[in-house]
Amino acid sequence: MTTTPTKKGSAAVQARRVLVLNSGSSSVKYQLLDMNDRSRLAIGLVERIGETTSRLLHTPLTGGDAETRERTGRIADHAAALKAAAEELAADGLGLDSPELAAIGHRVVHGGLRFTEPTVVTDEVLKEIERLVPVAPLHNPANITGIRTAQAMRPDLPQVAVFDTAFHTTMPEYAARYAIDVETADAHRIRRYGFHGTSHAYVSRKAAELLGRAPEEVNVIVLHLGNGASASAVAGGRCVETSMGLTPLEGLVMGTRSGDIDPAVTFHLKRVAGMSTDEIDVLLNNKSGLVGLCGDNDMREIRRRIDEGDERAALAFDIYVHRLKKYIGAYSAVLGRVDAVVFTAGVGENSAPVREAAIAGLEELGLVVDAGLNVVRSGEPRLISPNYARVAVAVVPTDEELEIADQTFALVGRAESDGQEMPVGQVDN
Ligand code: ADP
Repeated sequence: MTTTPTKKGSAAVQARRVLVLNSGSSSVKYQLLDMNDRSRLAIGLVERIGETTSRLLHTPLTGGDAETRERTGRIADHAAALKAAAEELAADGLGLDSPELAAIGHRVVHGGLRFTEPTVVTDEVLKEIERLVPVAPLHNPANITGIRTAQAMRPDLPQVAVFDTAFHTTMPEYAARYAIDVETADAHRIRRYGFHGTSHAYVSRKAAELLGRAPEEVNVIVLHLGNGASASAVAGGRCVETSMGLTPLEGLVMGTRSGDIDPAVTFHLKRVAGMSTDEIDVLLNNKSGLVGLCGDNDMREIRRRIDEGDERAALAFDIYVHRLKKYIGAYSAVLGRVDAVVFTAGVGENSAPVREAAIAGLEELGLVVDAGLNVVRSGEPRLISPNYARVAVAVVPTDEELEIADQTFALVGRAESDGQEMPVGQVDN
């Protein structure tokens, strides 16, 4: 693989701020970071873009008390959303026209096989992200809109795409390929790509740090349990297996997604239940998982209902945990030797009952949770297994925005220190 330099580095020498943008179909999340100490200067969210009930929440973090400001009323599109965010930042003396801004880092969901690393956005790179829309129809269009909007606002600034799939491109071919006809698969780029890669990369590295060892020395299973959920097996810092596939639908039971099912369920729904492809898509992505099983996708609410004796909530919880256990067992076998099982994201970081239930009965795999340590609440990476346990069990808060900022700044900084041009991604593949 080769890299082609095409765009001249243009960031000013003292520019050490990075704006991180995560553009969804109807929302934009943003964070402005100071890369001198990797601290947050401001965070914000614009949601329900295009509706009359749009809302912007902006929190400057430079002063003493972090006070959130709110704007309500229709924000027509992504351009208007970014403009509104820029106005809020400017009101705090953090305007996006500042020469201190080094780059804008964008979360891009699907990078296919080509984008194995963060990449400076050029017209050609944007075209390739566009070419991947058929495999990421919900996500890549919103990411592209976010990039275009940011480009229009600061055309002089490097825009860096950080891909959710990139960390998983190290998966061996036998893990990435589905066992279907090779020609059909290749013609339509059907294979397992994996998602949440930025989180799996960050958390697996942090877990090694927590164990006091180099990432190259440890094998970890990362369980990213948010509303979307995925597991990964990371051997010596490289991903060798992950639970999401062509799309984020495969794998674990999630808030609204089914995770693994027999693909014949879809034919059955079409032939017997008379559902359309779009209806099945909505069923499996939006009306399944915890919400489909019990009507709630928030683990706090599910636990509350279980405490009140609700049987549907209890069954949903058991199905969720059973799937987790299957993946922990499978990935233990894939890795051969496991040094740590690591919980992260909303459920993983906060739900002691999920962690306890997922690890219960796995003593033969060397896995034990200390009940006292498990219920301690903390925002820090921590071990929840007893000292004698053969395999560490840990909770590591994820920080995808920091990882995007780090990768963006490293890429821009590298180009600057070379005094020349920035890589814009692999050419082949
Ligand atoms: P995403 O980024 O995928 O939207 P998050 O990682 O923020 O999701 O996780 C959101 C989920 O985390 C919620 O739906 C809820 O189930 C769970 N969650 C958040 N806080 C808690 C808590 N204190 N206890 C249990 N579950 C929690």
